[in-house]
Amino acid sequence: MKKLIISNWKMNPSSQKQATNLFNGLSRGLKKSNSKIEIVVCPPFPYLSIAKKSTAFKLGAQDCFWEDQGAFTGQVSLAMLKDLGVKYVICGHSEKRRFGEIDEDVNRKVRAVLGAKMTPILCVGENMEQRKNGQAFSVVEKQVKQGLKKIVKSQVSKVVIAYEPIWAISPNGPCLPDQALTMTLFLRKVVSKIGDKKTAKDIRVLYGGSINASNAKEYISSDFLSGLLVGSASLDTKEFVKITL
Ligand code: PEP
Repeated sequence: MKKLIISNWKMNPSSQKQATNLFNGLSRGLKKSNSKIEIVVCPPFPYLSIAKKSTAFKLGAQDCFWEDQGAFTGQVSLAMLKDLGVKYVICGHSEKRRFGEIDEDVNRKVRAVLGAKMTPILCVGENMEQRKNGQAFSVVEKQVKQGLKKIVKSQVSKVVIAYEPIWAISPNGPCLPDQALTMTLFLRKVVSKIGDKKTAKDIRVLYGGSINASNAKEYISSDFLSGLLVGSASLDTKEFVKITL
């Protein structure tokens, strides 16, 4: 299976002009990229409509709402995202959880994304205090179990899990490749209990946190890691393109 590299622009850049430049730079730069890598770009909602169709990357969204339409001020539905060509949706990013998103919301989003025949990227990860207290594994286990609740076994491998330890998100600096690998293996074990061994093997598990062009290879070369989720470094087109080479 192709490795998957996802770019998360977070709440950047601040104008359509800058976003257009980023999209154009990516379309040009990614032509040289490794064809064995699938690339997904997740800009903020307002820029989804200015992304020209590109064979170089697929479009992703940074969030969604689980209802189809109606009186839900400020929310964005999956039908709206699908209409804009979105294929992947980030669910439960720590920067959303920090402002009150709970596992139950994340699970509703994951299920709604699957229901819309799109791919959810379920983000999990512990904070530094939890790691220091020896709770890293129990925290991510709970997030994965809750995030995948009520999903039929045959659908579980369609979810992408992104392990993003909060303490490793930039500007902090990455976790060690070994730590990412250990958690990836653990996550596959958790998934094998929810689905089965094949599901645990097939499901894509990514690492995210302070990835850049100099360190990306150390992570992506592991057979157990399916790819990367890249935040800050994805705003520098040249840097991001190098990550994908
Ligand atoms: C993220 O927040 O999803 C992320 C991976 O951030 P960064 O690469 O900037 O650490």
